[in-house]
Amino acid sequence: MHLKSLTLKGFKSFASATHLRFEPGINAVVGPNGSGKSNVVDALAWVMGEQGAKSLRGGKMEDVIFAGTAGRAPLGRAEVTLTIDNTDSALPIDYTEVSITRRMFRSGESEYEINGTKCRLLDVQELLSDSGIGREMHVIIGQGKLDSVLQAKPEDRRGFIEEAAGVLKHRKRKEKAVRKLEAMGANLNRLTDLTAELR
Ligand code: ATP
Repeated sequence: MHLKSLTLKGFKSFASATHLRFEPGINAVVGPNGSGKSNVVDALAWVMGEQGAKSLRGGKMEDVIFAGTAGRAPLGRAEVTLTIDNTDSALPIDYTEVSITRRMFRSGESEYEINGTKCRLLDVQELLSDSGIGREMHVIIGQGKLDSVLQAKPEDRRGFIEEAAGVLKHRKRKEKAVRKLEAMGANLNRLTDLTAELR
């Protein structure tokens, strides 16, 4: 699995449709200060379902929509499409190429699509969750984040690794199941007591 391309339209500084093509392996985005390199990374996180405006370096989610410049009027919507090569079937879907689109309007309304079909945010999150691209987006490391990972306490660092490896989801499910089992055990004990009282 690798990221094939990213198309931005009305997203942050990318007012006109901009298509970026990636190759397998390492890709580098270069450009002068303020030219939009970090906005490309924000677009990647956003299209994969990022919900925190702060993680996208904004105050509110609408800040991702092109706000206008001296020569160009603001736009009413932002749209990003990420195309992923899935020839190795890393994503649990029967397509060799998967496109995810996220669209947002100034009204705050959001839309998601997988291969052109409208879907829920949950569908996008579930599609990506087993690929190591978790909800917490630990695969995207922004400027300064590397320091915070290196300086994190060992248990927090383990959390980052578990999230990226897709283990955290199973640990959370296990903890939930154990809690349910304990509650069930307590109910069983209560039932045994009641049965004994009735005899
Ligand atoms: P550096 O190398 O300094 O980190 P960069 O290439 O990563 O810079 P970005 O932070 O991606 O640059 O882009 C910043 C630019 O994006 C700023 O000029 C900012 O005004 C513009 N920008 C951010 N959000 C919007 C928006 N909603 N509408 C229009 N322009 C925006």
